[in-house]
Amino acid sequence: MSNVDAAEIAKFSELAHRWWDPNSEFKPLHEINPLRLKWIDKQAPLNGKKVLDVGCGGGILAEAMAGAGATVSGIDLSDKALKVAKLHLFESGRSVDYQLVSAEDYAEQHAGEFDVVTCMEMLEHVPDPASVVAACSRLVKPGGWVFFSTLNRNAKSYLFAVVGAEYVLKLLPRGTHDYAKFIRPAELARMTREAGLDTRELIGMTYNPLSKVYKLEADTDVNYLMSTRRGD
Ligand code: SAH
Repeated sequence: MSNVDAAEIAKFSELAHRWWDPNSEFKPLHEINPLRLKWIDKQAPLNGKKVLDVGCGGGILAEAMAGAGATVSGIDLSDKALKVAKLHLFESGRSVDYQLVSAEDYAEQHAGEFDVVTCMEMLEHVPDPASVVAACSRLVKPGGWVFFSTLNRNAKSYLFAVVGAEYVLKLLPRGTHDYAKFIRPAELARMTREAGLDTRELIGMTYNPLSKVYKLEADTDVNYLMSTRRGD
């Protein structure tokens, strides 16, 4: 298992017990979840679909997609996060198949099985994001959808996502994000293209620290989401 940074997994594992506390370090994920769920469901209606969530963590998005009627599997390399995800199913009464496995290894067994693959807020924690993108493409059926979200790399994203979010507003613990691993939309578009995925939509996600409101809008300078579709 080479495409994994042990320090990144340790970071998430250490906090995992607080994953479902909406006022914890994971508050931003809870707050953006309805926005991204709606954005995904609008493009690829989830009801009845077979969906894989890559880097699912404690399962915030995976569970929501199950709630929208999808049959959901979730994979991650943090055992602790997955344990929390599994425990939470008892509370929510939802059903998700969680597995401790890398996207690359999972793709060996499950190529072409999914209508939809999601990979959110994960690529910026991985040594070789292109390899994960390629695995996502292998996992989805021809004509299926793959959704990504990550952080752009420029002076503004450094200021907002690192200095602002971790040091000034303290929305996230210090060290959550490593600027060098941020990915420009053009770089992600290239990775997806090389993996046989066509870019469909690119949209920004902004946070207003005064109103504390997240929004999807045209500004992709800091957080952004990209939808892609595999060729038939
Ligand atoms: N996708 C979830 C969680 C994002 S946090 C959401 O948006 O709600 C980032 C997650 O990526 C963590 O759960 C972490 O364990 C996982 N991760 C980091 N590197 C990984 C890798 N190489 N393979 C699989 N998961 C990884």
